[in-house]
Amino acid sequence: MKKKKNFKQEREKMVQAQIEARGIKDEKVLEAMRKVPRHLFVPEHMRRYSYQDEPLPIGEGQTISQPYIVAYMSEALNLKGNEKVLEIGTGSGYQTAILAEIVKEVFSIEIVDILSSKARKVIKELSYGNVYFKIEDGTQGWKEHAPYDAIIVTAAPSKVPQALKNQLKILGRMIIPVGSAFQELIHVIREKKKFKEQKLLPVRFVPLISKH
Ligand code: SAH
Repeated sequence: MKKKKNFKQEREKMVQAQIEARGIKDEKVLEAMRKVPRHLFVPEHMRRYSYQDEPLPIGEGQTISQPYIVAYMSEALNLKGNEKVLEIGTGSGYQTAILAEIVKEVFSIEIVDILSSKARKVIKELSYGNVYFKIEDGTQGWKEHAPYDAIIVTAAPSKVPQALKNQLKILGRMIIPVGSAFQELIHVIREKKKFKEQKLLPVRFVPLISKH
């Protein structure tokens, strides 16, 4: 009981010092970051670091993103609440849970089966009924449920995959890290006849594994 309380306090501190202080204003994002128990998505031996200002290893050579980056990417998608979102790179499932708090449905693809199964378990324990998982190379998206209001990619390809662009609705947004040694977060918006791309900030993500 005591432990739980501490985590809640740490989470509140995380939101104030790392997220609000750096300019994230979207109330829905802030509320989700206050609510989702990040420590449940972190391996047990690392739990005490759950609310620190950094990414953490989650096994299989992968990482859970830094809390600020999760908040930043979520805000950049400009979500209102009734959206259908595609996520590439489930990883720990933490970003998935943040999205599940905000939107109507989340479709999340992960290429490493152990990670997907672990994430699915935590998401189920937390009783989210609006998340759908798939184990596959996400580079080709998830056509069956397309088009999406928003797409979030949490591993970096060398360029924005065309298949993902094609699965955006008109006025749909995508946020994706692009590059190798040097990466930038790119915001893509689908307009009626073209895609508009904007560079947001330098980042460091694990590479997107591509079988295609
Ligand atoms: N949002 C996650 C970030 C995980 S790191 C979190 O906060 O926990 C990125 C994830 O993308 C890793 O789990 C990695 O296995 C996965 N990944 C890499 N290439 C992929 C691909 N082609 N399709 C789907 N997932 C991929």
